[in-house]
Amino acid sequence: MLSEDKADKISTTSPAAPQRIPARMAEIGGGVPVRRVLPSRGLRTIGAWCFLDHAGPAPRNLLSVGQHPHIGLQTFTWMIEGEIMHRDSLGSEQVVRPGEINLMTAGRGISHVEEAHGDGPVHTVQLWIALPESQRQAAPRFEHYAGLPRWEQGGWQHVLLAGELAGRHSPVEVHSPLLGLDLRAEGPAKVDLALDPAHEYGVLVLTGSAEIQGEALAPGELLYLGSGHRNLVVQNAQAAGVHLLVIGGEPLAEAPLIWWNFVGCSTAEILQAAEDWSQHDERFGTVPGTVLGRLQAPDASGLRLRR
Ligand code: MN
Repeated sequence: MLSEDKADKISTTSPAAPQRIPARMAEIGGGVPVRRVLPSRGLRTIGAWCFLDHAGPAPRNLLSVGQHPHIGLQTFTWMIEGEIMHRDSLGSEQVVRPGEINLMTAGRGISHVEEAHGDGPVHTVQLWIALPESQRQAAPRFEHYAGLPRWEQGGWQHVLLAGELAGRHSPVEVHSPLLGLDLRAEGPAKVDLALDPAHEYGVLVLTGSAEIQGEALAPGELLYLGSGHRNLVVQNAQAAGVHLLVIGGEPLAEAPLIWWNFVGCSTAEILQAAEDWSQHDERFGTVPGTVLGRLQAPDASGLRLRR
């Protein structure tokens, strides 16, 4: 018989040192600064989270994106400041406001637009979640979530965006074990969050600066923690406010292929989607009620995607 202490040591591989993943600036249009955090050269996914754009904060909401298609993913829009109108080929029409999430499940195909709503400040994150095999051909759907679990602990205001934490459950319907957590503090604060050692995690500071497992972090980099961690210490040692995002999930066995707005398992599948979009195939429908134009896919000739 092993002592409990020893069994615990054997079952736990020691976690790797945290890795700093630099964001790169992306051009979305409208002059709003967008930091693309995922995918990056050094890191494709965190759990099934396969794309992360951090837009703003910016003084003017110029975040409009014309009609474009998606397959194989969920788009997950978390609004911090400002408003965006979502319209899609199912006929959905939904403004997302601060503290709310728009979740669009592309399945086998959908198209949508995002229209800046109002011209005040804007601050948002948009993530994509790769769908598991069982959901990739599913019918498209759209959900809006206005009521998310919120609580205060250790000076941090928590909002549970996705998954489960501390006995709470996010209502947001995802198809893989995931965590999304928004943390905000107005001044000095410290919390020790329980993690699942089988999952991998990353932390992104949206505004201000914080110490994550003792490492100082500011906007512009994601701190990738990998798996094997049982807890996460998040501290704000200053009087100034800080706002951050924690994402995590069960590591994927294989990273999905991403090209333009498509997530797939093969080059052929993605080429077919590009062809269907260019041919106005009914798979992607049309978006009613928008004045925004239709975006063209980049040239896909010679495309060969590798993991
Ligand atoms: Mn989109």
